[in-house]
Amino acid sequence: MNLDGKRLPELFALADKIGKQRYHKLTRQDLEDYEKFNHWRYVNGEHDCGTTQESRDWARDNSDFHCPICGVRFSECGGRTIDHKLPRSQYPWLSMNFDNFWVICKACNDEKGEMHWFEYEHYMMKHHPDRLSGIKAARPMKLLKSLKNP
Ligand SMILES: [Zn+2]
Repeated sequence: MNLDGKRLPELFALADKIGKQRYHKLTRQDLEDYEKFNHWRYVNGEHDCGTTQESRDWARDNSDFHCPICGVRFSECGGRTIDHKLPRSQYPWLSMNFDNFWVICKACNDEKGEMHWFEYEHYMMKHHPDRLSGIKAARPMKLLKSLKNP
């Protein structure tokens, strides 16, 4: 499947459809991972949940000083957070999949919310077109392709 050749709304509909199909197959491990992330997530954002040494180390090793989305220094935009590229509310089995993580600032994480990846790209195209190329470069191709075979 050539994902680049498809239009965003089409891709969004496809991923959404496949995501919902996978729900009935959720395992205990999927749910444990979902919970585990609650103890792992924020690194130095304002939220006081999580923040383990493991997540701090991971965030340090997978970020520099600036948010990859807005380009602002983390210290000036709410701190580092670990975001799921594909939201775990829709893809709970990807809760602890490191391929699904990236370090973005609190402000960008709040703005991204629970949007699906392609919905987010569409949103950025409308609201922050200057940031779109960076978002596209971070597109989780491997995971999106894996959704094709749930
Ligand atoms: Zn940001």
